Amino acid sequence: MLFPYKYVPHQMDRMQKFINFIFYQVWCRAPKAGPFDLDLFAGNPDLKEVMEAFLYSDTKGAYFFYGHVEGIYQLFSKLSRTEIKQLKRWYQGNNNIQKVCENDPSTQIARYSDIPQQKKVLNQKLSQFFCGLYDNIGIAALKQKIGDIEGHYKLFMSVNKTGKCPFCGIADMQGVFHSTREAYDHYLPKGLYPFNSINFRNLVPACHHCNSSYKTSKDPAFIPKDPTGATHRRKVFYPFANSSYNIEVTIDLKKTDIDHLVPDDIQLAFGPPVLNEEIETWKDIYGIEERYKGKLIDGDGKAWLIEVLDEWKWQEESSGIDGRSPNDYLRNLKRHTEKFPFASSNFLKNAFLDGCDRAGLFSIKEDTFEADNQKP
Ligand SMILES: [Zn+2]
Repeated sequence: MLFPYKYVPHQMDRMQKFINFIFYQVWCRAPKAGPFDLDLFAGNPDLKEVMEAFLYSDTKGAYFFYGHVEGIYQLFSKLSRTEIKQLKRWYQGNNNIQKVCENDPSTQIARYSDIPQQKKVLNQKLSQFFCGLYDNIGIAALKQKIGDIEGHYKLFMSVNKTGKCPFCGIADMQGVFHSTREAYDHYLPKGLYPFNSINFRNLVPACHHCNSSYKTSKDPAFIPKDPTGATHRRKVFYPFANSSYNIEVTIDLKKTDIDHLVPDDIQLAFGPPVLNEEIETWKDIYGIEERYKGKLIDGDGKAWLIEVLDEWKWQEESSGIDGRSPNDYLRNLKRHTEKFPFASSNFLKNAFLDGCDRAGLFSIKEDTFEADNQKP
């Protein structure tokens, strides 16, 4: 992740508080609390109001919410103290997104696959509820209490104003003046992890490619399974990290024939070393190397190079170089990149042209590129 988001408090955070209440005060108390009724929600009048509205509503969303809260209550009522204790630890772990990302050993996390086989029905019900929850937050009775996702997005983007996707740094993001918006990605995928599908520290706007083409349902917290079946945790960037950092990108070219570059001719290196583990995870889940190389080969790379060379006209008749030298150009670009690293993919452009310079491409006479320059 190239830069972290700023967390933006919003009315929608109340939804997670509702779910916390349902989990700790209703479900976890089920073994001792007797039959399911609305009095169980007395400690949270707003939620009680919502539950009451759902009870008398025949909309699909109301039925979904009320039905699952009650159904899971029945299943919890049969659990032992030890089992409830374990579920509490998992709930807490899965909702501490920062500690999950940091791979803090004191945090116990659980995927649906970690819930014991004997609890198959509970597993299924939790999965139906938490997977469907996000799609059902627009139900009228809830909306009155928590606002809507469009409102959240506008506020979020009015604070996070870079205009670029922080996961790839190259795609534009819809902002406050667009009538449409980017989708929210469940950073810990909702299909794998129970309990956190409505936690806004786990919900991050991301560009379509990052979310739907590359990350999909990849698990950022675990190294993809090795053939022996072993699983290993890994660190991943926390999307709302408080401290900023600077991802260093270095690009080296193994050959100078820019017209016939293939991905293997480009060597990408990332730093700083202190973030190595997070960087490896980031590269894995967002296909970063493939996408950056693609952009350099099929996308902007050649145009960036020609731009430098065009500025540096080789005037044969006037015995020298006229216009800006590549060094002048690179100096200016470096200055722009420090100021606006993500505008016009400057961070990548700067690294690529530095690589071209190291590969000796600016000591080649312009006529090498002449033919290409003439192309429309
Ligand atoms: Zn992206």
